[in-house]
Amino acid sequence: MPTSYQALALFSGGLDSILAAKLVARQGLSVLCLHFTTPFYDKSRMVDHWREIYDLDITAVDVGRDFVDMMQRGPDNGFGKNLNPCVDCKVLLLSRAKALMPEYGASFLITGEVVGQRPMSQRRDTLARISRLADVRDIILRPLCAKKLEPTPMELSGLVDREQLGALFGRGRLGQMDLAREFGITEIPTPGGGCRLTESEAAKRYLPLIAQGLSVDPADFELTNVGRQYWWDHHFLAVGRTESDNRRLAESARPGDILFRLKDMPGPTAVGRVFPGRAWTPEALAEASAVTAWHAPKARTLTAPVSVNLRQNGQLTTLVVTPAQGPHFAPPSFAAVTEWKQERQERLDGQERQERQERQERFERRRSENTPG
Ligand code: SF4
Repeated sequence: MPTSYQALALFSGGLDSILAAKLVARQGLSVLCLHFTTPFYDKSRMVDHWREIYDLDITAVDVGRDFVDMMQRGPDNGFGKNLNPCVDCKVLLLSRAKALMPEYGASFLITGEVVGQRPMSQRRDTLARISRLADVRDIILRPLCAKKLEPTPMELSGLVDREQLGALFGRGRLGQMDLAREFGITEIPTPGGGCRLTESEAAKRYLPLIAQGLSVDPADFELTNVGRQYWWDHHFLAVGRTESDNRRLAESARPGDILFRLKDMPGPTAVGRVFPGRAWTPEALAEASAVTAWHAPKARTLTAPVSVNLRQNGQLTTLVVTPAQGPHFAPPSFAAVTEWKQERQERLDGQERQERQERQERFERRRSENTPG
């Protein structure tokens, strides 16, 4: 791959991002596609395949740390239907792409957005807001719908030929399919999908990590994708449902984590995660052992207590417990997601109301000071 490019393209691997990059590349301009990855969206394993079939230069860029920080701070522009912070996500990705421009000598950015395609994040005013917040107003080109937007400096200067750009608008896909045919693209990615933050099942698994102010690592979200999940305050337990879950859990355990396994009978593997600055209480250890035992069918049918081995940093402890579900450990619920989003929104609305009122009061004060008495 060359080391310098005229444009950097945000590249999800979806059809729109492919076509946007192709529309500019076919003008003879060099384009590097950036596939940004987060714990919630990562198709980097496809990069080699994409390069080959779409004939584009593509590289994966990990923005997991920044993305998780943004989620924990709370996105300024709120969430979509589930935990997807689409406006803040785009602002973050564009800001990162802009920061990478000097490294590649690039002079503008490309996205596959189509005005009017999505009710919230691709409305005309939202596209303008995203450009403003990411500070990319003069360097962003949206090739698929460029003719529906004001000409950009890249078009006005003649660097990009506006005539060869698209005039797509709205939710229909016919225009994209025509363009795909024009470019000879036969492998058409299925529309949408891929971002786990848009899925309600994933949202409820992620929320405790996001909402609790724990010092989390992007890799923590991997653990929330495996098996059954239980939380008691900051105590997080993932219990395997299948052999493959058990293997994944054992592999994902890191120093400090507690590995739970039944001592004398078959049962699940469970991982208790220990977060920086937090510790497990003896009560939580006993209850997590009881929950693990509860998921071993043989242990549940016994009337006697069972032994559970706990391994932490190579040290083995055995606890004798009665299999039980709870009372404190509980699976995450989707109701908690709705509630948390509502509370956040009310707080933001309250702050906005207060700021508006303070602005009004300042205005009134200035006016009365300037009014001759
Ligand atoms: S769906 Fe996910 S990846 Fe796409 S813009 Fe929204 S948050 Fe970002």
